[in-house]
Amino acid sequence: MTTATACPVLAVKEGLERFARKEMCGRCLPCPAGVLSAIAALERFSQGAGTQRDLELLSRVGELLPQLARCPRGQNAGEQVAKLMAEEGEALRAHLAGRCPAGECASLVKYKVVPEKCTMCDECRRACPQDAILGEPYVAWRGDNRPYQIILELCNGCGACVEACPEGAIEKL
Ligand code: SF4
Ligand code: SF4
Ligand code: SF4
Repeated sequence: MTTATACPVLAVKEGLERFARKEMCGRCLPCPAGVLSAIAALERFSQGAGTQRDLELLSRVGELLPQLARCPRGQNAGEQVAKLMAEEGEALRAHLAGRCPAGECASLVKYKVVPEKCTMCDECRRACPQDAILGEPYVAWRGDNRPYQIILELCNGCGACVEACPEGAIEKL
């Protein structure tokens, strides 16, 4: 269950998703029931919608799946959840509070424009699928040119503006 993400919540979720897609055979009930409910709970965590009940659910899956799964593949899936619960309490609590410390869960990442770097080129505003960026292109004769701004409430963390900005002026909050 290897993965490139630095966020343990996403890493375990993606590992379980791969297992569910490619290996899980469904011959015994605890495996699909535990794995699919853990994926759903981790998805909620990655979107900042995780709850205390999700934590309890993950605890149960981590405790019971290694015992109840009929084969090592299912047991290993349960152990991944158990390891997450045992070693990543801080990351889980952060997600519960709506933060992803690794900055990998797109729904929890917000961006800002660094005013000193912004040349008001308008690339980010045109790239934003959410219309979350305010600003007007630089006009030489105008005295009130202002750096662009991101409306956090509209931003979904997709990162398209970061890709589009030629100045590297958009950073994670
Ligand atoms: S534990 Fe093994 S046998 Fe049971 S559903 Fe999962 S992969 Fe299949
Ligand atoms: S991260 Fe995406 S949604 Fe947020 S401001 Fe940038 S382009 Fe728009
Ligand atoms: S793309 Fe970068 S430099 Fe251009 S307006 Fe947006 S933040 Fe400013």
